[in-house]
Amino acid sequence: MSDTSLAVAASAPSIGTAAARAVHATKVYGSGDTAVVALDDVTVDLPASRYTAIMGPSGSGKSTLMNLIGCLDTPSKGSYLLNDKQVSEMNDNELARIRNQEIGFVFQTFNLLPRASALQNVELPLVYAGIPSRDRQKQAKDALERVELTSRMAHKPNELSGGQRQRVAIARALVNNPSILLADEPTGNLDSKTGAEIMALFAKLHESGNTIVLVTHEADIAAFAHRTISVRDGQVEKDVRRAA
Ligand code: ADP
Ligand code: MG
Repeated sequence: MSDTSLAVAASAPSIGTAAARAVHATKVYGSGDTAVVALDDVTVDLPASRYTAIMGPSGSGKSTLMNLIGCLDTPSKGSYLLNDKQVSEMNDNELARIRNQEIGFVFQTFNLLPRASALQNVELPLVYAGIPSRDRQKQAKDALERVELTSRMAHKPNELSGGQRQRVAIARALVNNPSILLADEPTGNLDSKTGAEIMALFAKLHESGNTIVLVTHEADIAAFAHRTISVRDGQVEKDVRRAA
């Protein structure tokens, strides 16, 4: 774990240090007549150790907001801070380190390497982080254990079910102990029973202290989180918290 995430973990009781904070963030794609305002003056705090859902219809700006939170993009106007640092002021090395070590991404389409085994897929972020081979294997096995998939670690993605593939992707997202786990429609390609299993896994990960931000357009999936931020036309329409 890095210094910044340790700082967050150490100061992350229920009152909530903001792990991530967007302030009047606007994102415009394109320019002139074809400009699209994907995010329109969004201000939102995402404290450490919380489980938050971002909900809204297709095209409402969910993925744009998630890309901002995951430091894959920066706002056209306004600011975005991760662990109190302005992301737009970070240099390429710092950004690469943050994407590799502070943020874990899970996507609807799993995004696994087809020719690599489950174990190798989970090891990949550790390769980028420069972890030596023996430590990599151990950490990757530990991550696969957290998603209850050690028995399938030598299998390639096409030898796994959709739910198992998503578990591999979740293990890969967790393997560096990120500050935030970001999931964009993680159950979108799964049947409802398998989707429910993946949601149970996220609930377990949250109970063990992970900060989770889940993007979905489905209310029953959002209901697993303890807070739902509803977006519409690039704006925060509602922000509802439930008792954890
Ligand atoms: P959601 O994830 O809620 O479906 P997105 O954040 O993907 O919504 O998109 C929000 C709006 O921004 C949509 O109108 C979409 O067409 C537009 N948009 C998203 N990405 C791009 C892009 N790279 N270039 C141009 N427009 C984009
Ligand atoms: Mg989307």
